[in-house]
Amino acid sequence: MQYDVIVIGSGPGGYVGAIRCAQLGLKTAVIEKYSTFGGTCLNVGCIPSKALLDTSEHYHNAAHNFESHGIGLSNLKIDVKKMIERKNEVIAQNTAGITFLFKKNKIDTYEGIGSFVDKNTIKVTKKDGSTEELKAENVIIATGSKPTALPFLPIDKKRIITSTEALNLQEVPKHLIVIGGGVIGLELGSVYARLGAKVSVVEFAKSIIGTMDGSLGKELQRVLKKNLGMEFFLGHKVTGATTKGKTVTVTAEDPKGQEISLEGDYCIVAVGRTAYTEGLGLENIGIKTEERGNKITVNEHMETSVAGVYAIGDVVRGAMLAHKAEDEGIYVAEHIVGQKPHIDYNLIPGVVYTWPEVASVGKTEEQLKEAGIKYKTGSFSFKASGRAKASGDTDGFIKVLADAGTDEILGVHMIGPRAADMIAEAVVAMEYRASAEDVGRICHAHPTFTEAFKEAALAATANRAIHA
Ligand code: FAD
Repeated sequence: MQYDVIVIGSGPGGYVGAIRCAQLGLKTAVIEKYSTFGGTCLNVGCIPSKALLDTSEHYHNAAHNFESHGIGLSNLKIDVKKMIERKNEVIAQNTAGITFLFKKNKIDTYEGIGSFVDKNTIKVTKKDGSTEELKAENVIIATGSKPTALPFLPIDKKRIITSTEALNLQEVPKHLIVIGGGVIGLELGSVYARLGAKVSVVEFAKSIIGTMDGSLGKELQRVLKKNLGMEFFLGHKVTGATTKGKTVTVTAEDPKGQEISLEGDYCIVAVGRTAYTEGLGLENIGIKTEERGNKITVNEHMETSVAGVYAIGDVVRGAMLAHKAEDEGIYVAEHIVGQKPHIDYNLIPGVVYTWPEVASVGKTEEQLKEAGIKYKTGSFSFKASGRAKASGDTDGFIKVLADAGTDEILGVHMIGPRAADMIAEAVVAMEYRASAEDVGRICHAHPTFTEAFKEAALAATANRAIHA
């Protein structure tokens, strides 16, 4: 078969890119090695983790917060099996949605492992070992990533697990040890802490969510400790983990070099993700990869070192986020037909779906300081928000960073209720290069959590917040 475009991988990068290609009139095929579409995000990432986060949030609220609203409950329990079944149904609905969209857009699909024979020929190796060759003018590699393993810490997938197994536990751990205080570790740690597990996070860096603005990590750590009893071992270097029966022992060096040891019944290793290129046969056509991390090297148009072969999403440089992969899929499709698409990598929001949620866009204070850019800051605490008081979600704040001279917003960092959704307003404002005063003068509905953004913007403008 001859195609205009073959996409290898059906995660958010691949499936969105394929749909955009088809919309633009390109004859398109997708090759996916698994029997369901949607990649990491839909099957073992964004969607299932959010399904479990929602279930555990309902449970936690019923157990701890309903009483203050005057709602009494007796016999509250969590049926973990049902929670996991519901999560699987959510996945099934979403992956079926992609199958529908592929059909609707007349995209051909092939189940199997795609590999390069030459730059225009892809071999599909199917489960039964049979093969088929497809031809295309352009190829988009969207093969994503897999959990990073620590060489000295073997994952047995039963007690020492990755995020994938953590989404399928059949019981609430008694003591869950999470290695890695990044987004994935904290989200999954929150799920089980809300359901009653003791959760200990061991992190090498001095703060959790270390790539975000420093103020967010501090506040998140404080709130997770206060609300969920999570404990944190920061600046600790994990040295090993062993299992004996149902017990996992994790050893680490504390900041002074002393060894500590933690005993639990499960340990999630969440130390990041690594680009996935196995089986692609990149060497067959000489596609270059980066020295560190195995990522495929691409230029500003996401084209690899081989003309007509593109790579997008987790398998290339940049944030490993579904929406970044999607935007790159659209970019490549439009570039192939000669359009002039654009992605502003500075404006890709980052979100942590703990409670309170954490969300960020643009430059952090640390980055502005390092770049020597003069800036002003304005913060507004949810403690002063009428909406937050009504719902009982008063932890957190919104911080706006604006250029000291021009007042243009350079970064927005928030931790609080519904921050994941609220960050969109900051992205729009920054996309249109709004000043802090512009946002401060926009009418925000009352009472909403979004008023905190307006107040933080007013605070950054000239310390003009009304309710602070
Ligand atoms: P993937 O989604 O990894 O898809 C790659 C696909 O390629 C897979 O289906 C794979 O089977 C297929 N493939 C690989 N090699 C071949 C081959 N040779 N032939 C055929 N098929 C192949 N991101 C967010 O933005 N928000 C979140 O809330 C979020 N939560 C997450 C939670 C967890 C627990 C995890 C693990 C990740 C989360 N992410 C989240 C990250 C997000 O899942 C990824 O950034 C995103 O899936 C990357 O998309 P992709 O298209 O690059 O690759």
